[in-house]
Amino acid sequence: MISIRFLGFVDDSVMTIFDSRDLVSRPEDENLPRPDKEWINSHIKIWKVAVCKAAALLPDNAVEKLNKPVQVLFFIDRTAWPTGIAKNQYGTSAIYINLLPSFEGADWMTWDPLVVNGFSWIEKLGLVLHELGHVYEYQLDLLEKFISEAYNRKIVSKTTPYAELRGAAEDFAESFCLYILDPNYLKKYPPQYTWMKEFFTTSGKN
Ligand SMILES: [Zn+2]
Repeated sequence: MISIRFLGFVDDSVMTIFDSRDLVSRPEDENLPRPDKEWINSHIKIWKVAVCKAAALLPDNAVEKLNKPVQVLFFIDRTAWPTGIAKNQYGTSAIYINLLPSFEGADWMTWDPLVVNGFSWIEKLGLVLHELGHVYEYQLDLLEKFISEAYNRKIVSKTTPYAELRGAAEDFAESFCLYILDPNYLKKYPPQYTWMKEFFTTSGKN
């Protein structure tokens, strides 16, 4: 399994991870009650299991390709719609999980944020795999390769409405996730499926 380091909960006040304003859906409401420690710890516990289960789904070839540990941190920002975000930091990659994202989506969203109907188990796994897709994309510098090889200078349909709206990097992360969780769905998108199949079935050992 890939190496995961849980770095715990970070407080709102130090959150600068939403440097892109379009990730924030509304101004902060000062009157919202803050969840207590017990609530936070119980939710972190569930997410930790989801992170480990999702990481365990990665085939050995993919595990071999990643040579740096993935840091996982938790935070709460109720003004922001994303539940997960992947970032490069401290020479490696980190996944931040928002325990309580905004119930209001962004303007461009034509769907409800996942949190609205409660996260199902498969949605949690999907979220973690999507963010792990970004980690691979960052650490192995795969985005340009994916665009040139999978898209091959053609306009291709993106794999999900989210990817369609947000572009190639999101299409990479969605395709990465779908290859693991729902390969039959991904087969409907041959350029992305073929690229991911090649990626996941070639050895990471050189
Ligand atoms: Zn993403």
